[in-house]
Amino acid sequence: MEKDRCPACRGALAPDALGGLRCEACGAAASEPMTVCPRCRHVNDPGAAACDRCSAELSAPCPGCNCINWAGAERCADCGRELDNLGHAFRPIGRSVEIRREELIRRVPGLKEQEERKSERRLDMLREADRRRMQRETERAAEAKAREQRIVRNVGMAVAVFLVIVVLAAVISLSMSAISE
Ligand SMILES: [Zn+2]
Ligand SMILES: [Zn+2]
Ligand SMILES: [Zn+2]
Repeated sequence: MEKDRCPACRGALAPDALGGLRCEACGAAASEPMTVCPRCRHVNDPGAAACDRCSAELSAPCPGCNCINWAGAERCADCGRELDNLGHAFRPIGRSVEIRREELIRRVPGLKEQEERKSERRLDMLREADRRRMQRETERAAEAKAREQRIVRNVGMAVAVFLVIVVLAAVISLSMSAISE
């Protein structure tokens, strides 16, 4: 099994803005945010402070708002400020790693919520498309039913007219025979 391919569609995987591995074809997340090493692209365990393989830091604080971003992020996820990601990625681990890790753990649920909101919007769009499709199908079914009802009505009318003629013919022939007697 190729681990660098999307398990759903076999599309190519690439890190997204939050440092999670994501399918470029279908958009499915293939890892938690902030798990991809910005230097060597190794995918680390969720919540890891530094890369298992090359020891680069996985997270970096924004110099503007101080919130914790993925170390490979081009912009701060909170305030949008441009980040010096290469500077962070190549900095050796300092003694604040434990503190960073705690910040990261606090921060990740927020990132998860952002991701959930995004996929919620995608789901809403799919639901809306589905609703419109159902509506069209309902309309088509109603039209077909109306057509059927028209046909049934017309056949009923024809039968009724035919019966009236038969009854009239019988009445006429009866009264004729009564007159001729
Ligand atoms: Zn995919
Ligand atoms: Zn690495
Ligand atoms: Zn910021």
